[in-house]
Amino acid sequence: MNASEQKKKRIILFISENQRVSDEIRTLLADKYCFYFTDRLDAGESLLELHYDKISAILLDSMLAAEKGTDFISWVADEPRFMFIPIILTASGIPMNEEINCLSLGAVDIIVSPFHKKLTELRIENAIRLKDSASFHEIARMLRALPSNIYLKDADCRYIFATHYWNHLNNGDDPDWTIRGKTDIDIRKNKGNAASAMESDREIMKTGKGVSYIIEEQSGDKQEFFEVIKEPIWDKNNRICGIVGLINNVTEHEKLRSKLKLAADTDGLTGLLNRRKIQSKIEKNFRKMKNGGDPVSVIMLDIDNFKNVNDTYGHKEGDRVICTLADVLRDRKIISAKEYFAGRWGGEEFMVLLLNTELTEAERIAEKIRLTFGNTDLNPLPPQTVSLGVTQGKPSDTEISMYTRVDEALYDAKKSGKNIVRTIY
Ligand code: GH3
Ligand code: MG
Ligand code: MG
Repeated sequence: MNASEQKKKRIILFISENQRVSDEIRTLLADKYCFYFTDRLDAGESLLELHYDKISAILLDSMLAAEKGTDFISWVADEPRFMFIPIILTASGIPMNEEINCLSLGAVDIIVSPFHKKLTELRIENAIRLKDSASFHEIARMLRALPSNIYLKDADCRYIFATHYWNHLNNGDDPDWTIRGKTDIDIRKNKGNAASAMESDREIMKTGKGVSYIIEEQSGDKQEFFEVIKEPIWDKNNRICGIVGLINNVTEHEKLRSKLKLAADTDGLTGLLNRRKIQSKIEKNFRKMKNGGDPVSVIMLDIDNFKNVNDTYGHKEGDRVICTLADVLRDRKIISAKEYFAGRWGGEEFMVLLLNTELTEAERIAEKIRLTFGNTDLNPLPPQTVSLGVTQGKPSDTEISMYTRVDEALYDAKKSGKNIVRTIY
């Protein structure tokens, strides 16, 4: 066949030993189809391997099929590259038992002599179409091999199909259970997540915009995260007729992400917030306070004569002292504010942000920190002390003026002999 013929017509692989039948059919269909023709099954297999992407259908002589073609038929029906190519048997007379056997193995039709042009064409076209529509099930079968869940919902947010029924679905152990026709509320254990899934479906129906988000599902003591990607499906009248969704289990990814986030916010030595994080917490809550929110207070701390610790006992012992103060700052019995954040400001300096806390309460907490740290046994080191500056954010403050004031308060404590709390309003 030449190239322009190939472009115009469907290509059929025709395998037949029956000269009379094959000549008749090829002549009859010459204006509509091109043929790869062979009288041997093994040559037919090679042609299929080489040209399967161009071949629309296979015509197979029924006698040949009945004698030695059954393996060929099952091979074509099961092989993912060929499963969309229909096999049609050609017979010179009434079908025999063997030919019926071929149909049961996966051949889709049988055309019988005398051949009628229009009828033969229609049966070939129907067979091709039938295989195409069967491809939905084949695709669903293949999609099930992926770890992702892929689903379709209709315009009423009811499932049409899903490739996987996951363990957070309420399907119990019923083997006949199907997702078809059910809503998220029907099937999901976590009714809160189910309601928001349906809410976002309705939003997609309204706006035509796809969404993606991550949800958390708890099943027993197993915590899992799923990424959900949803897009609308449009019908030919440009109306949204459903939703296609893709769900990936991203638990490992999310756990790694939160570990990285925690590491990015945490001081490596003490486990408290690092300078960047505590600063952003202070500034965020300071802005809230300025916009009429709750009062905020800050305490700045610096260990006294810390150079001596390093010089006398070594850097490692110095680290231990820093971590001991960090432990005090973590202790909710000592820092009794309902909500607070403690961070390492640098070296042996720390900052504590007290939310919804007025200055007198902040001062009392600072005094408790000073006493507790000063009385902590650091054996073999003698107990160490800390100086603390305290202030409260004022509506007239800038962030800088608040930092300056708390720094001044600390400086004042150092100047006044150390191991002291100093407050500036
Ligand atoms: P002051 O009472 O005035 O605060 O005196 P100080 O000796 O504590 O003086 P300063 O605050 O200037 O000293 C800080 C020292 O802390 C200097 C530095 O070598 C030490 N340092 C900073 N970071 C670390 C750390 O991570 N581990 C240890 N062991 N030492 C640190
Ligand atoms: Mg210092
Ligand atoms: Mg110091």
